[in-house]
Amino acid sequence: KKITIAIDGFSSTGKSTLAKQLAKELGYIYVDTGAMYRAVALYAMQHDFISETHFDKESLVAKLPKVTLQFLFNPELGFAEMYLNEVNVETEIRTLAVSNFVSKVAEVSEVRSKLVEQQQHMGENKGIVMDGRDIGTVVFKDAELKLFMTASSETRAKRRYQELIEKGQEVTYEDVLKNVEERDYIDTHREDSPLVKASDAIEIDNSQLSISEQFQKVLELVKS
Ligand code: C5P
Repeated sequence: KKITIAIDGFSSTGKSTLAKQLAKELGYIYVDTGAMYRAVALYAMQHDFISETHFDKESLVAKLPKVTLQFLFNPELGFAEMYLNEVNVETEIRTLAVSNFVSKVAEVSEVRSKLVEQQQHMGENKGIVMDGRDIGTVVFKDAELKLFMTASSETRAKRRYQELIEKGQEVTYEDVLKNVEERDYIDTHREDSPLVKASDAIEIDNSQLSISEQFQKVLELVKS
């Protein structure tokens, strides 16, 4: 019987790596909700609603009905890519520039309610793995399996730094660590659905686990 799997946790804890592996193994759909928040942040940047010095929330909220988000499967890559108003933004949304604004955009209640509604719609049929910050607490409160991923901020920043360098981005480890810590702070302190472990979620600290050890451990949970 197909189930709903909710994976939440701090930034760069390997949620998406695990979620992708699970979806592939089980033949489930994988939804990266962070990509949706990142695409809205990119939209806000493109329209100059947000910068280092200002954030015009009202204009962003007024334009929200004009923001369309889609995941389109890319058979060559084997996963879905994010489209913002029909444009593939998969590469752009992963930059440190977007990472630096996304948590501020994700604090806006109107943004959250729009995205949560879309996510719930995508999960109407079971057989889905969704990762984010509020999946087990808000989006799918009734998910059959909820995981909450943690790892030390240094472990996470090292991983994220490695990823960005491999993609050819010019960043320093210090900037990445600062961004990871800032996002953790904003995500856990916002008023609307702050990042918190659901009471029925299973916590996985993967600072000491390899990707395959973690995968085996979670597969056992799915099968139990
Ligand atoms: O998962 P990822 O790191 O790509 O998410 C980027 C940001 O989007 C998070 O730091 C958080 O501020 C926001 N987010 C959220 N709720 C989600 C997923 C992401 O607030 N369900």
